[in-house]
Amino acid sequence: MSNTHFSDDFDFENRLIDTHEIPEDKSEGENPLRPKNLDEYIGQEKAKENLRVYIEAAKIRHETLDHVLLYGPPGLGKTTLAGIIANELGVNIRITSGPAIEKPGDLAALLTNLNEGDVLFIDEIHRLSRSVEEVLYPSMEDFAIDIITGKGQMAASYHLPLPHFTLVGATTRAGQLTAPLRDRFGVLLRLELYTPEELAKIVTRSAGILGIKIDYEGAIEVASRSRGTPRIANRMLKRVRDFAQVMSDGVITLETARTALDRLEIDELGLDQNDRRMLEAIIRFYNGGPVGLETLAAAIGEEAVTIEDVYEPYLMQIGFLSRTPRGRCITAEGCRHLGYEFPKGAIPGAVTQPSLFDNK
Ligand code: ADP
Repeated sequence: MSNTHFSDDFDFENRLIDTHEIPEDKSEGENPLRPKNLDEYIGQEKAKENLRVYIEAAKIRHETLDHVLLYGPPGLGKTTLAGIIANELGVNIRITSGPAIEKPGDLAALLTNLNEGDVLFIDEIHRLSRSVEEVLYPSMEDFAIDIITGKGQMAASYHLPLPHFTLVGATTRAGQLTAPLRDRFGVLLRLELYTPEELAKIVTRSAGILGIKIDYEGAIEVASRSRGTPRIANRMLKRVRDFAQVMSDGVITLETARTALDRLEIDELGLDQNDRRMLEAIIRFYNGGPVGLETLAAAIGEEAVTIEDVYEPYLMQIGFLSRTPRGRCITAEGCRHLGYEFPKGAIPGAVTQPSLFDNK
């Protein structure tokens, strides 16, 4: 941690509320908590219902499904949904990510190995290099690629037809996608943060799969501290289970969930030390804001992208943080929650939700 105004040694890599996948999220092999079909997939009703129609229609017409772009913060179920799409279509899925496809040749190898109708899932699709994107365009549109071999006079170009496939792209930052790439997706689905009730259903389902006993109040408590994110809810469930085993005969109740999460320093809204330290930094060092993203990142020793992808969506959703053209501002609500007076002269800053393709 460099350049931090704070001195404790909180483990940023393994924070409980980190929305990025960590090894413990998967047990050996397949993650048993991942829903396999649309009926098991809880919440995201709008996206789900639209998808259901598109999938049915494609099946009736015996065509491949249009390319799908899924976007939204990490841990909301994009990878899960890609798997479900393949399952519902009855085809195979190949999983890769933007940074893993280094050269056009890597993409060509992936594409030529697909079977008719397969789903190709590219996570973090905004991180594809330009040269790879150039190969992706014609393959998405015409299901063919042009391969050039050799150099100079020996150079030859082959037009290689590909099987028809469905590309499912996932990104946390749709705003960083190039326009030509974005335009080639027929279906754009934005995943939203989940409500506590939806998360309680997810937690209860996961508890059933893992053989953990949990009552409704316990599930709601875990859910309401999970910042709208299934990945966090599932992770918290596993931690709270340990407390339940010692405290309440293995059953997760309201009281056990509360005690466990208090001990883990996750407050009743799901904020952890890092959220609090970021909000406190805005109040104490920048008089409530506005403060630029990079400045704030340096002040708390955190990556700007982590602030944007992990902290901000939820803090904005609950109305504690706002983005203005001049930077980040804390809201009066946020101050109250942390026990601070709203700084004199601070800009109240309208609460802004990130808009469709806005990741700035
Ligand atoms: P993303 O790809 O958006 O980062 P994932 O698809 O990996 O997120 O989802 C993270 C975890 O959350 C999955 O392992 C899955 O168990 C759980 N999950 C996500 N969405 C749902 C849902 N709608 N219903 C039930 N569980 C879900």
